[in-house]
Amino acid sequence: MSDERASSDARLDRVNERIVRSRALILDVDGTLAETEEVHRLAFNAAFARAGLAWCWGRVVYKDLLRVAGGKERIRAFDRRLGGTSSLSDAEIAELHMTKTTIYADLMASGGCPLRPGVEALLNQARTRGQRLAIATTTSRGNIDALLGPALGRAWANRFVAIVAGDEVANKKPAPDVYLEVLARLDLSASECLAIEDSGIGLVAASRAGIPVLISRSAYFLDDDFSEALYVTDDLGMLNGKGVVEEGKLRGAL
Ligand SMILES: [Mg+2]
Repeated sequence: MSDERASSDARLDRVNERIVRSRALILDVDGTLAETEEVHRLAFNAAFARAGLAWCWGRVVYKDLLRVAGGKERIRAFDRRLGGTSSLSDAEIAELHMTKTTIYADLMASGGCPLRPGVEALLNQARTRGQRLAIATTTSRGNIDALLGPALGRAWANRFVAIVAGDEVANKKPAPDVYLEVLARLDLSASECLAIEDSGIGLVAASRAGIPVLISRSAYFLDDDFSEALYVTDDLGMLNGKGVVEEGKLRGAL
């Protein structure tokens, strides 16, 4: 076995051990649980059209705007980009965002957005292991419901001990606020938990809270800097302890 392969296997073993030994798994939502960003983009554009704005965010523009966390903040950032100062009032931005949220929920309810491979298995295995699950997200509680209701059933929230959404804290990611609030509600220290994120912004937020981070890369953030992450994968289904345990590599971890 080459040194490179051996080191990669050792890192895989370490992250699998971390997954099964953590007292709690703290999950980001958009991009991590499902590839929701395209649905968000379509909903933004539909809201702009409904408001009579001649705005249409293509994938390249939206990818750039994703550096700004939060829907209202994203609308303001784009508005400022056009004219230097924002031409929309706070009330107009709030109304646009409310329209977008309604359209997003309708799109999710009609077509849904499947969970990414390995996500449901990870949630089920965590429950079997007696681990606690939490959500730390910049998106709104309504958006989480729009995704997880169809995917996990109406009682989805019962699976999570703590759910902290963007509007419940002072500062959105990359600030650590959502993670610090989750830790407080779990009454656990950062090192007892594992955060699962898909973006550089999310990695920074969890890392600032002191929580080790597993990155499950999603379509819009493939080229972010993940050098601070514990491990980077494109497929959670290849991790979550199960496959490695079956191969007998994770001796004594369960
Ligand atoms: Mg995300």
